Amino acid sequence: MTDLSATTGVTDRPSGTAQQAGSAAPDPILQFLDRQRPETPCLVMDLAQVRNRYRQLRTALPDARICYAVKANPTPEVVGELVGLGASFDVASPGEIDLCLAKGAAPESISYGNTIKKRRDIARAYEQGVRLFVTDSAADLTNIAEVAPGSQVFCRVLVDNKGSRTPFGRKFGCPPETAAPLLRRARELGLDAYGVSFHIGSQQLEPGAWEHGIGAARRVFEDCAAHGVPLRMVNLGGGLPAGYTESAPPLADYVRRIEESLDHNFGARRPELLIEPGRFIVGDAGVLRSEVVLVSDSCDGERSWVYLDIGRYNGLAETEGEAITYRLRTSRDGDPLGPVVLAGPTCDGDDVLYQRTRYELPRTLRGGDWVDLLSAGAYTASYSSVGFNGFNPLPTYCVDGDQRS
Ligand SMILES: *Cc1c(COP(=O)(O)O)cnc(C)c1O
Repeated sequence: MTDLSATTGVTDRPSGTAQQAGSAAPDPILQFLDRQRPETPCLVMDLAQVRNRYRQLRTALPDARICYAVKANPTPEVVGELVGLGASFDVASPGEIDLCLAKGAAPESISYGNTIKKRRDIARAYEQGVRLFVTDSAADLTNIAEVAPGSQVFCRVLVDNKGSRTPFGRKFGCPPETAAPLLRRARELGLDAYGVSFHIGSQQLEPGAWEHGIGAARRVFEDCAAHGVPLRMVNLGGGLPAGYTESAPPLADYVRRIEESLDHNFGARRPELLIEPGRFIVGDAGVLRSEVVLVSDSCDGERSWVYLDIGRYNGLAETEGEAITYRLRTSRDGDPLGPVVLAGPTCDGDDVLYQRTRYELPRTLRGGDWVDLLSAGAYTASYSSVGFNGFNPLPTYCVDGDQRS
């Protein structure tokens, strides 16, 4: 595992794409935390940083339609802010559609980007005015054709997620060879065969990775065109990074490689573009404040264990496998550092945040001190809530085996 010594005491701004201007300006998140002293753990988002990120991407890819991936952070204020900026939205469920509409998003700005959806949820989205759907299977396509007639569909293809810190595995997307027949079928069913999408894996640290998806899209375009079904759109998915301990390349590197790949594969016949950033828009805009519950010296005297009131189950799901390594800031920064294991507060043995990754924290740290996890605006609150991705919490029913009717 990567050696990440001296990960605390980091007072500078996120590395790579996470650069912020003017370290002299007062940090509004710190100000809020100092003044309000909210109960921990809590996540504080800076909407100004969300705006900056959106505008940065808008400028870098002026002809791409930006669909914010709502699951990264469904805070209503964040969604509302993005509605105000003219963003579109990538949603996964009726709950996320309702949220976007409630915050003023137009139905035409919504892309139903989940390949796994119930027929009645498609029908409901259609009734609400949504006309853009992803698909990757014949069964889902038939449902769309029947309950969302005439809609635009794009097909998600499976691509290599190498270079991603949190790859998707094989759950979504079909091979490019299957995508073309599906899109031709879409047209036979009266749908608008619109284009191709892919997701190169979240927190993608290799700017060249998009070539896999853009190249695959071109092959699907060619196959469909040869059968008289011209496609028009390439959806670049998510994958743009936030700033964790491992620095990420700047946005310009990603955009340059994406542009090169578009030129190489499509030349002058550049397709319409969609992009679905989640982490990039909200990751660096949030700070998660936690409190130290306890510090205990380990038996071997090597590393102390620092237990926080935030853990795997109330917001730090992405520490699983130590995939995402947050930068930390503490109330005792500046004091001498020592190696630590970081763990969450629950009685679950897996609720350990970092033990393979080397973290160092001030040796003076003790219960009641605070530890901030920086760049924690993406996939934290949404994973911890009982409403992740807009799906309702699992209801609990009780029966009593002794009470027979
Ligand atoms: C989660 C998701 C995204 C956002 O991915 P990031 O890596 O956070 O940018 C985009 N598109 C789809 C379909 C997703 O499921």
